[in-house]
Amino acid sequence: MAKVFKFGGASVKDIEGIKNVTSIIKNHPEPLLVVVSAIGKVTNQLEGIVNAYFNQTGEAFQLYESVRSKHFEVCENLFGPNSETASLLNDIFVEIEWVIEDDVHDGYDYIYDQIVSVGELASSTILANYLKKENVSASWQDARDVIITDETYRDGKINWKATQKKVSATLTQKLTDSNVIVTQGFIGGTTDNNTTTLGREGSDFSAAIFAYCLDAESVSIWKDVRGILTGDPTVFDDVVKIDRMSYREAIEMTYYGAKVIHPKTIKPLQNKKIPMYVKSFVDPGGAGTVINQELVKNYPPVIVLENNQVLIKISTNDFSFVAEQHLSYIFEKFAASRIKINMMRNTAISFSVSVRDTRARLKVLIEELRKEFTVEVEDNLQLITIRHFQQEVIEKLTKDKIILLEEKSGETIRFVVR
Ligand code: ASP
Ligand code: MG
Repeated sequence: MAKVFKFGGASVKDIEGIKNVTSIIKNHPEPLLVVVSAIGKVTNQLEGIVNAYFNQTGEAFQLYESVRSKHFEVCENLFGPNSETASLLNDIFVEIEWVIEDDVHDGYDYIYDQIVSVGELASSTILANYLKKENVSASWQDARDVIITDETYRDGKINWKATQKKVSATLTQKLTDSNVIVTQGFIGGTTDNNTTTLGREGSDFSAAIFAYCLDAESVSIWKDVRGILTGDPTVFDDVVKIDRMSYREAIEMTYYGAKVIHPKTIKPLQNKKIPMYVKSFVDPGGAGTVINQELVKNYPPVIVLENNQVLIKISTNDFSFVAEQHLSYIFEKFAASRIKINMMRNTAISFSVSVRDTRARLKVLIEELRKEFTVEVEDNLQLITIRHFQQEVIEKLTKDKIILLEEKSGETIRFVVR
């Protein structure tokens, strides 16, 4: 049975990173499917190209050159001049050139996927070829030929049936032929062979899709932290690692905004009872965190902080109750503008929600709501979520803060604070 390893952008951010990932793979002799993200920060840079091109700012080529040369530098360092890998990279990058040379004909989301997918195509090409150079029996797989989605660009919905068929037909055999298959996270393809992406940070989800379709033994997500921690180690100095976690706890944590794993990752794994390990690529021997179906009792308090929150208070203009028809109208507007409600509260004549500040998109939505309601907006707020809360943790986190909204449900307490 194969295992699935997922390496994020930080693990392959430079040549040392790529060498380190290679040594981790070498230490695992069993058949492996390796899912890799774009080199650290590359996805953001590619987004920069998309924006420059779409808005015709005149900077697209310059931005393109800088991302391209970053990859060729890594390539030359690992393979020397005029390598086969360099010519493969050339073919991958030229696709961007072809897009940005032309006038803008297509929609933003479509263009985005054609350009941004290059990050994963390039990193996986470099890694696969470096593994071969290091005498690992490895092959490269284009994820767009197996992860089949609909045509929702930037948020491709998985066609599970088609994906399962493709994975069974192409990967199962290949995994026994070569020990290691390297493929891309984050990207997929439509039945018409158009490239799609699965949403930012979607590589974890890709790993889970592959694991599900392969009936993998396990999935390991290799990160720059020791495992799943009780809080952000850059904010708190007293975080601890959670050794074992249930699927349920993991899905709750990601639902409340914990960034350790992509929220869509857990479901496919839970459905097939495939365990997931969160491990450190800096300390590959460490135990990390294991997530599986086993019940775990007594979790320590887990803290999730989300900044850039906006509190929107929506009230009726005529002092009438906020009733079902208002709410359904309001929810429809939020759904249409793809703005996710993090927390909400309903009172007699008002309805308050906390959402992430998405700037332009939120502004449009607020203007829309103002046509029907009185809308008050307060921005620059923080959303604090504590799972398995204890009074002293609450006090510590809300000290010197003004609580604007509070919600307690089961083991979770949440505050919107200023
Ligand atoms: N490279 C993509 C991103 O940065 C996907 C991922 O890293 O999971 O969003
Ligand atoms: Mg990432």
